[in-house]
Amino acid sequence: MPTPDSTALPSAVELLQRLIQFDTSNPPGQERECALWLKALLDDHGIANDLLHPPGMPERPSLVARVPGRGDAPPLLLQGHIDVVGVHGQRWNRDPFAGETAEGCVWGRGAVDMKGGLTMMLHALLRAHHSPQPPPGDLILAAVADEEMGGRQGAAHLVYEHPHLFDGVKHAFGELGGFTVHIRGHRFYPIMVAEKHICRIRVTFLGQGGHGSQIHRDTAMSRAARSLRRMERRHPPFKIVDATRSMLEGMMEVMSTREATVLRMAMNPATTGMALAMMGNQTRRMLEPMFRDTISPTIITGGQQENAVPSEVQLLLDCRLLPGSTQSDIVRQVMSLVGDNAEVHVERYEDGPPTVDMTLLPYLSNLLETADPGSKAIPFMVAGGTDAKWFHNLGIDTYGFTPMRLPDNLNFMALFHGPDERIPIDALNFGTALMHQAVNNYRG
Ligand SMILES: [Zn+2]
Repeated sequence: MPTPDSTALPSAVELLQRLIQFDTSNPPGQERECALWLKALLDDHGIANDLLHPPGMPERPSLVARVPGRGDAPPLLLQGHIDVVGVHGQRWNRDPFAGETAEGCVWGRGAVDMKGGLTMMLHALLRAHHSPQPPPGDLILAAVADEEMGGRQGAAHLVYEHPHLFDGVKHAFGELGGFTVHIRGHRFYPIMVAEKHICRIRVTFLGQGGHGSQIHRDTAMSRAARSLRRMERRHPPFKIVDATRSMLEGMMEVMSTREATVLRMAMNPATTGMALAMMGNQTRRMLEPMFRDTISPTIITGGQQENAVPSEVQLLLDCRLLPGSTQSDIVRQVMSLVGDNAEVHVERYEDGPPTVDMTLLPYLSNLLETADPGSKAIPFMVAGGTDAKWFHNLGIDTYGFTPMRLPDNLNFMALFHGPDERIPIDALNFGTALMHQAVNNYRG
């Protein structure tokens, strides 16, 4: 791709192709080359920017750029990550780091998660800078490292070491939101307004160990096994939080009476389970984590020697909590599943906001519903975590807004972290246009 001169605006497709060509797979990340390219691009266009990295980690820079606004709105943050997940063990039909265009799509790792979204933000920033009229408030772009491994080297570093860069920011646009979800003939645009918070719990099962030639009963191993079985059958209770209720209400507005009845049932914890069972598998998979805290066993360790029964087995639990759920809530749940002769230890707990800000929701919903007439925008909570949690420490509320109008036949969610990741060029251009509008009309 030719280097842009100071006036020519590269197209969204060109920007995305170039971003994909940097292999920023995390681990190890290696965002440096990509960040340096971004810096050179912004320098060429005369946009003020800084590369910032944690002490002793020059390979992990994040970039923060700013276009001054005219003072009619608070500064607005566009935050996106430049790292991607790896492609190890996946079969791709195209080179994941070539940034090819084919079949109406841009192909490659990061096309949807989230170099595509970052492209929309970058394009909006360039356009704001070259526009005769400055944006309403300062426009800040944070292109950060390390999101896929938790963000400590990226967003967290910016938030804790350079918080002044975000003075006065109330809202951010980030990943996971504004793309079409087709449900029973309706087009929804979920906008991420909340995420679950993480609690990692280590359980140590204890039991009599001994020689492998003997018969042992009720060992640490069998206690762990019984607990795992219980975890498969028994889950934390259903809870209806504001973001979920508001999502269901939005969906009910456009769905048929029969469909709305099921959603109404879902809003009552006593009948949530029944309602979920009445939904299709795909819908259920997507919605169920919004109704309860979850406990997922992820790592089991125990035994070192072939002929010795271990007296200790450890199980790591990845727990995800709804807004308002606490550490003691989830510990109580885990204790009820693991029984006696087990020690429960919280390894990591990230507190989340107990309530969810939705003030910008009408604004963003209106943009989406106007751009795709007949569609319905709804708030959404992600089951996983994003960098939104770090920026929230500065009082910044992130909305998932990287808009994409998608056809019904594309299994979009399977593209995240999956093989043959790609974004339809139409969807990329749709999002680029909407990002520009959203930035230009933002009033705080
Ligand atoms: Zn992502």
